[in-house]
Amino acid sequence: MGKYVYSFGEGQADGNNTMRELLGGKGMNLADMTSIGLPVPPGFTLTTEVCKAFYANERQYPQEVINQVKEAMSLLEKRMNKRFGDADNPLLVSIRSGAPASMPGMMDTVLNLGLNDQTIEGVIKQSNDPRFAYDSYRRFIQMYSNVVMGMDTDILEHLLEQKKSSRGITQDTDLSADDLKELVAEFKKSCKETLRRNFPDDPTEQLWGAISAVFGSWMNPRAVTYRKLNNIPAHWGTAVNVQAMVFGNMGDDCATGVAFTRDPSTGENYFYGEYLVNAQGEDVVAGIRTPQPINRAKYQEGDLPAMEDVMPENYQELVKIRDLLEKHYRDMQDIEFTIEKGKLYMLQTRTGKRTAHAAIRIAVDMVGENLISEQEAVLRVSPDQLDQLLHPSLDPQAEKNVIARGLPASPGAASGQVIFSADEAEEMARLKKDVILVRVETSPEDIHGMHAARGILTARGGMTSHAAVVARGMGKCCVSGCGAINIDYEKQQFTTTNGLVVKKGEYITLDGSAGEVLLGDVPKIEPEVSGDFAVLMAWADKFRRLKVRTNADTPYDSGVAREFGAEGIGLCRTEHMFFEGDRIQTVREMILANDLAGRKRALDKILPMQKGDFLGIFRVMKGFPVTIRLLDPPLHEFLPQNDDDVSELAHAVGMRFSEVKSHVEKLHEFNPMLGHRGCRLAITYPEVYDMQVQAIMEAACELIRDEKFEIVPEIMIPLVAHVNELRILRENAVKVADAVCARYGVKVNYLIGTMIELPRAALTADAIAEEADFFSFGTNDLTQTTYGLSRDDAGNFLPDYVERGVLKRDPFVALDQRGVGELVRLGFDRGRSTRPDLKVGICGEHGGEPSSVIFCHKIGLDYVSCSPYRVPVARLAAAHAAILEK
Ligand code: PEP
Ligand code: MG
Repeated sequence: MGKYVYSFGEGQADGNNTMRELLGGKGMNLADMTSIGLPVPPGFTLTTEVCKAFYANERQYPQEVINQVKEAMSLLEKRMNKRFGDADNPLLVSIRSGAPASMPGMMDTVLNLGLNDQTIEGVIKQSNDPRFAYDSYRRFIQMYSNVVMGMDTDILEHLLEQKKSSRGITQDTDLSADDLKELVAEFKKSCKETLRRNFPDDPTEQLWGAISAVFGSWMNPRAVTYRKLNNIPAHWGTAVNVQAMVFGNMGDDCATGVAFTRDPSTGENYFYGEYLVNAQGEDVVAGIRTPQPINRAKYQEGDLPAMEDVMPENYQELVKIRDLLEKHYRDMQDIEFTIEKGKLYMLQTRTGKRTAHAAIRIAVDMVGENLISEQEAVLRVSPDQLDQLLHPSLDPQAEKNVIARGLPASPGAASGQVIFSADEAEEMARLKKDVILVRVETSPEDIHGMHAARGILTARGGMTSHAAVVARGMGKCCVSGCGAINIDYEKQQFTTTNGLVVKKGEYITLDGSAGEVLLGDVPKIEPEVSGDFAVLMAWADKFRRLKVRTNADTPYDSGVAREFGAEGIGLCRTEHMFFEGDRIQTVREMILANDLAGRKRALDKILPMQKGDFLGIFRVMKGFPVTIRLLDPPLHEFLPQNDDDVSELAHAVGMRFSEVKSHVEKLHEFNPMLGHRGCRLAITYPEVYDMQVQAIMEAACELIRDEKFEIVPEIMIPLVAHVNELRILRENAVKVADAVCARYGVKVNYLIGTMIELPRAALTADAIAEEADFFSFGTNDLTQTTYGLSRDDAGNFLPDYVERGVLKRDPFVALDQRGVGELVRLGFDRGRSTRPDLKVGICGEHGGEPSSVIFCHKIGLDYVSCSPYRVPVARLAAAHAAILEK
């Protein structure tokens, strides 16, 4: 018989801190906190195995589960010295989800469970506070009827409003015990009328109803979306925690709060948190009341009294717990606590979500505090998250018109059009529009809109509100709790305290680091890579084996990449240089030329331009390898697309319109990506590659001769499918290169290699390697040709594939390891089989995507190459790969 239910309480726990998969994060930490002696209300956890059984058995439970819950309930009664369903001394419980990975707010919760018309008497007696008792009761019915019975929340909410207006009051807190008692009866009646079912009075029935609802919420749409966005597998399931209720809303010696052991936004080492006197947990997170700070560390004028001053003893106890938790978990924790009649209880601890900025600072600080090693510090920062830091901030020189201030909930800066609904934000983003989602507060229902938006602005809610927590996790900039704006959803506009009206569609800018809202699209600047970031990256570099290069075509981009730590260029796409300024006219002249002599005339004009580009790039990349790819795209990409452009070109080159037009038509291809491109062009027109090789070698020779440069140009021939293509083109290239060297009297150690971007090339890599000094896997084309999936058209339908789970991820984003990756592995092995010293890298977009980088490490490539901004991401991912391998 398996164990399905794990109890905790009174310093003892069945579970321990290795059982995340089974008990979920919350259940594991409740067990662990109990074991280390923290004041945790006792309870028990139904494991993720129960969740699996629940779904496998049409939402029924095996008898063993039912028996074990019964036993755990008896133990809980004993520990609390109360009885579930007892009219005299009743036990009330909370039912909460807790998956192995944190999914904040995505699943359901039921509080105050166990209340009915008999047990309420006991609660009144225990609390000596009928108002509190009936308020708990009516909250329970509202929550349970919605979460478990599926009733629309508006119906009971409406009755509540009616009651208030009939009493001439506006605040819930002004309702009397009698009002609330009446409401309880009205709520139950309304349930019966709406659902044609009685609200259950039997506590055991309530319990199983709530447990099933929480397990059921694992598959609700917002949880499904959240899992998809965060790569959490559906088969994990959630655990369910049943725990004795403690109340933060029993009077002014009660409170509830959430805190982070360090600042989750900046990483600064100070105790950061918010609390509310006389409130239930949900009140803090939901942003209904503005919370008060727990201490005076960052006190600002206008802040409400701090817990440090209001409840000094509880605060000191909390500080001790904070230190204990940090030493125990050796990481920043996100905690929830409640104070019931002066006694502090810990409701939760978990590893706190943090911005990338904070993640780095905390990791570096903790090494300094001897809490973790350098390797652990490197592993603490996820490469995906790093991306956030590489985002822009406001240009300090720019003119700024600050129209409102709120909380700096998640750093970075973003501009976009104001949109008030999540659905619309998603729609606009699909149309490639930048939007700022503006809401009074956000809820888990808004998650898709938050994902689509550039930034998020909310009028209500603190630093731990839903908007703040989710935005930080997504690496999006967010200003929350901006009370200075008044949102009118009906009119689709918001008004600032100065009376400025901002309508839907107008541009605003958010500065999530300063908590400012600015009018218009304010210029931004690129991030700096120094301080803690540089320290952490230096550690990463110490541990990684893979080299990281960049894909860059200009000296400027090469410079950015060097700043980010690129160790050379893995792909310089020379065709991009053909579009610079008015060069395109010369290129067109070359394409339109009727004979070799005409083509050579045009190529002679292009030669010095390309040589100039190479000189610039070589200088920036001094001492590092530079791989230059010869012309790759089909020629028609350089030709005019419409008649106006054709006639302009005809005029410029002195040809007739019809002549140019027919030339353009002749170059039309049905399937250009599989057409006359890459090395196939050079088989027909060898003079094009000859010119490019000459430009590369002249630039190299001049630098070696005049500036005493050490330089090894790597000349790369694209789209090779058959070794004979490479053999011919290599011979040509060597002839040109050697002639240049001889002319300059300089020796250059150049390499000639190829891209592996067609399945045939991978399959015959052993033969191809005999003609190549290096391989670079072009996984963009290799994905396209392996999948038979057009990289230019797949955007129309691939999202459906991911949405419906046909594919887990877009294969153009994350390397398809099973298919395309297999060809990379095979091509690599076959290449090395005939040429053991073959240099091998990857230069498709995957070179900067963490899971793909880890794959490249595992199969043994020498380097990855990616866009300049992703270089740090790749460096960190490469370090993770190397550390985790050990
Ligand atoms: C590739 O195909 O992976 C590649 C890097 O080349 P391009 O994207 O220019 O086709
Ligand atoms: Mg390619």
